[in-house]
This record gives sequence, C-alpha cells and structure tokens, in this order.
Amino acid sequence: DAEPITRRAELRRWLEQYGVRPSRRLGQNFLVDDHWAERIVGAVEPGPDDVVLEVGPGLGALTERLVRRAGRVVAVEVDRRLAEALRQRLACVDNFQLVVADVLQVDLADLVARHLAPVGGDDMPAVKLASNLPYAITSPFLVRWLGSSVRWERAVLTLQAEVVDRLVAAPGTAAYGALTVFVAYHARVERLGIVPAGAFWPRPEVDSAVVRLWPHPQPPVAVADPDALFALVRAAFSQRRKRLANALAAHPAVDRRQAEAACRAAGLDPGARPEEVDLEGFARLANQLFSSAA
Ligand code: SAM
Repeated sequence: DAEPITRRAELRRWLEQYGVRPSRRLGQNFLVDDHWAERIVGAVEPGPDDVVLEVGPGLGALTERLVRRAGRVVAVEVDRRLAEALRQRLACVDNFQLVVADVLQVDLADLVARHLAPVGGDDMPAVKLASNLPYAITSPFLVRWLGSSVRWERAVLTLQAEVVDRLVAAPGTAAYGALTVFVAYHARVERLGIVPAGAFWPRPEVDSAVVRLWPHPQPPVAVADPDALFALVRAAFSQRRKRLANALAAHPAVDRRQAEAACRAAGLDPGARPEEVDLEGFARLANQLFSSAA
C-alpha cells in the first residue's frame, strides 16, 4: 500500500470498499492532510523504545505514521467496519494491535498493561497518547484518561478549537470553567496550532486545534482528596452566575454559612464570581471545607 490514507482518493476508495458512510455521531471526520498528519505525529515524537496508545484510529491517518517510528502501538476503535479495514491495511505490521471497543467502556490501565507491557518483565515505559478525538467524547474521555492510573509521558490531541480555548482559559474569562480547572490539576497544556476544517473529510463545521498535554510530575496543589476538589469545582460552576459562596452551597455537603466561612479562611471574597477563582483558590476552599487537618 504505497498511497497514504491521507490522500482523499485513497480514503474514499477504502470507505467505499468497506461500505462505510462516515458517521456524524461517531465523529468520523478523517484527516486528509499530510502536513497535519506529520505535524501531529511529529509532536508525539514516537521513538523505538516508545509505546503509543491511539484512540479512534479510523483508517489510520496517524496510525500508519506512528507504527513506522514507535516501538509498539495499540489503537482502540469502536467502529467494526473501520477496524476491519485498518487491520487489512496494516496486516503486515507486527508492532501494532487493534482493540475493537468503545474507549469510554474499557479499563484504560488494564488495556495498557495487557497490550503495551514489555515482554521479559521490564518496567513499563510511560505511554504516549495520540488521538484525533471524536468531538462527542472529548470531555468524558479527558476525565477518564486524566483520572486513570496509567503512567503517561505526553498526550497529543486534536480537539475542537473551542474546547482548546476552554483548556487554556485564564480565570475571569467566559471559557474558564470546571474542565479548565480539572485539566490544570493534572497537566500542562501546550497549544500547537489550528487545524482548518478543510483538513478533514467530511469537512466538520468548525476548526480544530492540536494540543500537547504534559502530566505534572507532582500535583500542583495539595489536597487530601482530588475527587472532593473536583466535586466542589463542578458545584461552583453549575451556578457560575451566582456569587461564590452561594454557588459553593450547591454542593450537597456544604451550606451557605460554611461556604462563606471557607471563602474568608481561604482568602477569597464570598461575593466574587466562581470563574474568578483559580486552581489554588479552589484547593484552599476544598481544604477548608473537607479536610480536618486544615
Ligand atoms: N484517526 C483518524 C483520522 O485522523 O483520520 C480518525 C479520526 S475521527 C475524528 C474519530 C475516530 O474515532 C473514528 O474512527 C471513530 O469511529 C472513532 N470513535 C468514535 N467514538 C469512539 C469511541 N467511543 N471509542 C473508540 N473510538 C471511537
């Protein structure tokens, strides 16, 4: 197979042969741009000692480049017809495994251990994640990935440009919210560039953007229970037009009086807006409200 799948004619031929009409629900917009395929894989920097997990390989726009450079690649694809076509295209590649499953249903740590653990009992290298993520699962996937116990080295993701705005938003801006704070707790976000809608077929309605996430070696704030922190953040942003103390009281375990006292003790104005509070501020609030040691 000399022709890369990023050539429109080649892509159309394979889709037709396997009877695939791109599904909107599954976010099936295929990358048909060599330049961007190279840039995305370049940002992964897959080397011979690396193990790479790809989510939603489709017909392999990234996969066929990853397998040439990485030690091992495992990809998770939910669409059986695409999986069959991809197996056919990569039939002679021996450092590649395809798992047909919904990535939101699989146990990620188990998947990585099962398919990417080195033979001979060596230590498991930290995983590199690559994905042109289907739009519909961006947030749930990020929550699962960042909350999993998988040790990872970096993640290169193509997302809707508007979602990337949310990931890098500063406090006090409209795009700043629970997802911003959640991701900031886990990783540093590096923005790599806008991928125009025309780089995909079928052409999506909006532009995409590539980000590279770097996991923090240590959590940037000290909280007793990260899940309690995230529950508080979600409560705060579920009422983002309210004043901070009122918004925090949306949390089932927090009443208005406790919320006000916690704001004061955390050095925050109870009358501020939730969106003005940064990760550190939320961590101080969580420690005031939920940890007996505080
Ligand atoms: N990587 C290919 C490319 O760049 O051309 C395809 C990208 S396309 C935006 C998203 C892919 O994710 C599709 O192949 C789709 O079938 C797959 N997908 C959608 N939902 C999924 C899920 N829940 N689990 C695994 N794969 C999924």
